[in-house]
Amino acid sequence: MTAKIIDGKQVSSDIRAEIHGKVASLALKGIKPGLGVILVGEDPASVSYVTGKEKACAENGIASFEYRLPAGISEAELLSCVEKFNADRRVNGILVQLPLPSHIDEQKVIAAIRPDKDVDGFTPINIGKMVLGEDCFVPCTPQGVLELIRRSGVETKGANTVIVGRSNIVGRPLMILMSSKAVNATVTVCHTATTNLAAYCRNADILIACAGKPGMIKAEMIKPGACVIDVGVNRVPDSDSKRGYRLKGDVDYEAAKEVAGWITPVPGGVGPMTITMLLANTVKAASN
Ligand code: NAP
Repeated sequence: MTAKIIDGKQVSSDIRAEIHGKVASLALKGIKPGLGVILVGEDPASVSYVTGKEKACAENGIASFEYRLPAGISEAELLSCVEKFNADRRVNGILVQLPLPSHIDEQKVIAAIRPDKDVDGFTPINIGKMVLGEDCFVPCTPQGVLELIRRSGVETKGANTVIVGRSNIVGRPLMILMSSKAVNATVTVCHTATTNLAAYCRNADILIACAGKPGMIKAEMIKPGACVIDVGVNRVPDSDSKRGYRLKGDVDYEAAKEVAGWITPVPGGVGPMTITMLLANTVKAASN
């Protein structure tokens, strides 16, 4: 069996077409959605993510505003930038690019974001609402995973779902979303203390890998016909590449696609969805 490839670029482009429609309707009411981005320091990955997000905003009729701040900025100065975006009527959504330098309390900064502008869905208020099943901003990567599964027509009701990883930004929100009434999956969360990970994985109708360990999910850990979602984005050395590295997921893709029923590639699977869901959340914030 060769798996159906879940094309994140295509799904992302379908959702962006829906976003265009919503942006056009808002324009008729004189509203242009705006995203306020805060970047601290010059970490190349963070700079590249922020640049990509701002480019996507421009391509989709969303204004972006930014503070690019030095790595040595104080927590108080950073919090005052968050406050300025909180008060700015042009800014509907606020994104603080993580990670922040170690002298800054990340949770304190996130909690300072107005919940109705929290388009990353990381504030305690939005996380609490997500747990309660109330309308809220859902974190972008988990929301993107859900959209990929939903739009691929994979049955989630009663599906044994194994999530490998329990971070606050990916694994835990996925655990909440997949076990919600709306999705109705039966969820198991695995982590570094899990014994016999392979046995759990082999029982999964839906297997979501978000551990950040390149190629750790081998073909023999996959139930034939399962839906395999690979969230992992790992840089592995590659002397053939100009950059000296290539991106590899957490799944041993070439072998896994011969066993799985559906599979996401890396790159081109979950990755494109994350920014698209950020745009969707920003438009939602502007519509509220
Ligand atoms: P993280 O904070 O490092 O969390 C990794 C999780 O995986 C932890 O819960 C850890 O368990 C678990 N884990 C690690 N090694 C394991 C192993 N051998 N067996 C079982 N569990 C293991 O990572 P993250 O921020 O969630 O990111 C995970 C991956 O997703 C990374 O590759 C990241 O680049 C990628 N990512 C992609 C996107 C996207 O847009 N596509 C967005 C976000 C993240 P413990 O809790 O026990 O330590």
